[in-house]
Parts: sequence; C-alpha cells; structure tokens
Amino acid sequence: MGFYLGIDFGTSGLRGVVINHEACTQAEIKYAWADEAVSDLATAWETALFRLLAQIPENLRREVKAIAINGTSSTVLLTDAAGKPVDTPLLYNDARGSVVLEQLRNIAPPHHNVLSATSSLAKLLWMMQQPSFSQAKYFLHQADWLGFLLHGYLGISDYHNALKLGYDVEQLKYPAWLEKLQLPIQLPKVLTPGTPIAKLRPEIATQFNFPGDCLVCAGTTDSIAAFLASGAKSPGEAVTSLGSTLVVKLLSRTRVEDSRYGIYSHRLGNLWLTGGASNTGGAVLKHFFSAAELERFSSQIDVTTASGLDYYPLLQAGDRFPINDPDLLPRLSPRPDDPVAFLHGLLEGMAKIEGRGYGLLQEMGADRLIRVYTAGGGAGNSAWCAIREGVLGVSVVSSVHTEAAFGSALLALRGLGFF
Ligand code: ADP
Repeated sequence: MGFYLGIDFGTSGLRGVVINHEACTQAEIKYAWADEAVSDLATAWETALFRLLAQIPENLRREVKAIAINGTSSTVLLTDAAGKPVDTPLLYNDARGSVVLEQLRNIAPPHHNVLSATSSLAKLLWMMQQPSFSQAKYFLHQADWLGFLLHGYLGISDYHNALKLGYDVEQLKYPAWLEKLQLPIQLPKVLTPGTPIAKLRPEIATQFNFPGDCLVCAGTTDSIAAFLASGAKSPGEAVTSLGSTLVVKLLSRTRVEDSRYGIYSHRLGNLWLTGGASNTGGAVLKHFFSAAELERFSSQIDVTTASGLDYYPLLQAGDRFPINDPDLLPRLSPRPDDPVAFLHGLLEGMAKIEGRGYGLLQEMGADRLIRVYTAGGGAGNSAWCAIREGVLGVSVVSSVHTEAAFGSALLALRGLGFF
C-alpha cells in the first residue's frame, strides 16, 4: 500500500489531496486563508502548511510515501542562508517588475517569456534594488520554499517554476545570457518536477506521524498541476479551462513559442505543454447573466442550429491570443431581445475563439488536436459542450479531476516519467 500527498497553494487557500497507488482519492483537505495572512505572508504560508498536515487523517499520514507541492507560478521570495525570508514574498500578479523591463530587454533574447513585468526574473531584478537584498542568499519560488520547510534543503526548484526565471527547459540549464549576469544571489538548482529531493525532516515526520522515509519531491506550478489532474496524457490531448478567462493547453511533441501571442510551452517529460490564454471567458457571461440564468437559458438553446451571430465576447478592448491586438474591440452586436439567443451567440463566439486558439497552436507546429478535457466554472455546461464539439470537431469531455492538489499528488506518485 502507501499513499501520496499533493498540496496546492492557491490564491484563495490551500488544498491537500491524498491518493493511493491506483490514484484513487483517499482524503481531501481544505484550508482557507485567514485574515491575518496579509500582514506576514510567508509565516501565514508556513502556518497554513502545517495546519493542513495536521488535518490529514492520521491513519493515512502514517503511510504517506511521497509529497509534492504546487505553488502559484511566479510567486517568489528571497531568503537568508538559513531559509528565513528577508522580505515579503512577491505574489504571482505583482507587477513591480515593470520598472526593470527596459533593463531586461537589454539582457534577454527578444520575445523571451521573462520579458513581462510579472516574470520571476523581473521580480528578482526589482528585489535586487531593495535594501533587504543585502541579507539575501537564495532566490526561491513559493513551491521551492514550502518544499524546503518539509525537507530542509535550500536552493532547489523544478523546471516548471523556473521557466519564467529564464531557465532553459530544453537544454536543462541556465542560459548563457543569464549566467553572464553573475547575479549576486544563489539561483535554484532545477530538477524535473516530481523528482524525489530528500526525506521529510525527521522532526516533522515524528510530530505528524509520517513514515521516517517519506519523500518530498520537486513540485510544479498551479496550472500545470491542474493539467496533470485532468487525465490528458497523449500528444493531441488538450485541456480548456473555462473560468473567468479562457485558457487552452495542448499536449504536443513539438515546442511552440511566440511571445506576440503569449504562447509558450512548458516541458512535460518528453512532451511539451503548449498553450495560450484569451481575455474572453466566464467573466463576460457573468456580466450579462446570473448563475441561475446561465443554467436556465443554456438548457433552452437549440445546439443543433447556429446562432446566426458573430460575436467576439470581451468585457473591454484588447486580446492577445488567438488574436494579438491590444485594441481589438468586443463584438457583441446585434443583441437579440431573446436572452437565450443572446447567450447562444456568446457561447458560440467563445467556442470559435477556443477553436481558433487550438488552430493557431497547430499552425505553429503543435500536434493535431484529438480530444479536449474541460475544467473551470463553464465545464459543466452541457449546451456549451455540444456547441464546442461542433466547432472544434473533436470530442469534449469534462475532466475527471480538476483539483491542482490531485495533480500534485499524481506527481508525488509517478513523477513525469509518465509523459
Ligand atoms: P476562475 O477561477 O477563473 O475565477 P471558475 O473556474 O471558478 O473561474 O469559473 C467561474 C466562471 O464560470 C464565471 O465567470 C462564470 O461566468 C462561469 N460559469 C459559472 N456557471 C456557468 C455555467 N453554467 N455556464 C457557463 N459558465 C458558467
């Protein structure tokens, strides 16, 4: 027997999922951020992590063989030589790095994914200008630091978290342009996600009744963990996330990159996870309809006919993928009086954007789309599902699992060798 624990540090809270060797869920634990979380972020993470461990049923804890953690991508911090944070971590969406973008453009290759105000490297360059930097020894991602709390080793990351630090995931090394900078900080050593790093610190194992040989593995990011959870595993399989925005991810044997469209690829074992994100999505639906209306009107749509409308649903001007135009105007007219017809047009418009997105990835060389799993708030909408199948021309299925914590548990169970 033996169990595997995945921990997801999300934006609204923490989740843990324990699975067995057949990937069947044994326990699911949730921990919402307390209000005090904002004042001292790193301490709040640490407290939450250990509270979560304590909430796992003890009979399961006794048999946990491996643990993997996913953090939010590009949430980063600096620590001293003992692993103590020297300043407040910078969250994934913190754009303070915009002031170093000009400097970054002179360093990184054109169109590189680090050339964004929120990239880990932009954040590091910004941190280097702060007084607290003089005490810093290590630069870590959220998942790296949380892993350190469990295994006790500093300076270790994984190639999903390290992508936006500039790590070359194809050559599996830091690129020459980054090494040349000789940054006065210890950048993490980068491992394949899921690689066992070390045993759980003995004092933690004893305190929580984990086995003495329980392993802590290299982690991943939240969105990759959610992809791992979906069940997609072969080239051509994809996951669309229908949340506030529309995000597509297509598993491919070929790497695809184009910063103009915000397209980049994560490495997944021997495969590539290509993807892009459009500003269309559930936020537009929410603007026009309540949740109850969405359900009621969706069920009245005749999905066997076309809406006759040609929408590009956005809340404000501008999209990046699959159309890269910061001035692109929302197209939401003519608006029929019948709300069912209007909703039909919106769902069809979004399905066409999704189709165009997958089309673009394939035109750039990604594998041919064969199946789409769906996650997010819109996944359960069966009318939308039918419309999307018509537009995409492949079967659209709901992801069996959508929890990032489940994806991290799978990583602890079998690593990425699976791909
Ligand atoms: P996120 O985490 O990106 O904020 P969620 O995955 O929680 O989003 O999904 C929320 C979105 O799902 C909302 O924007 C809402 O419009 C959309 N949504 C909720 N119910 C439905 C439905 N029945 N059909 C289509 N979309 C829905």
